[in-house]
Amino acid sequence: MADPEAEALDLIKSRPEGILQSKLWKELGVDSRKCSRIVKKLEEDGLIDRIESKKGSTKTYLLKAKTSTMPVDPSCLLAGDELIPCISCDLECIVEECHPLMDWMYQLAIVQHTEK
Ligand code: SF4
Repeated sequence: MADPEAEALDLIKSRPEGILQSKLWKELGVDSRKCSRIVKKLEEDGLIDRIESKKGSTKTYLLKAKTSTMPVDPSCLLAGDELIPCISCDLECIVEECHPLMDWMYQLAIVQHTEK
């Protein structure tokens, strides 16, 4: 196993509803002590939430991946110097029919094409 923490995190991320720690170690093919160390590290790194859960009379933990808290790169909101219209939009949003967004996307395509 190359990187057990990365493997565990991938597995936890693949279950949006979360996964019980008592199942995780079995799916990873490690013993429960090693799984506890992996989970502790992921929790300390702020990558997962560990929520106490009862399975029958046994205490275990529900593990859920935290959603990314990475800030948005402001350049992703620009087509040249034109800001994406959604930022200041008060229209009823139907993305598939949105002309302001479509216009902005055309502008983005033009900007990206001319940068090549
Ligand atoms: S997609 Fe269109 S309607 Fe929806 S928020 Fe963006 S600009 Fe507004």
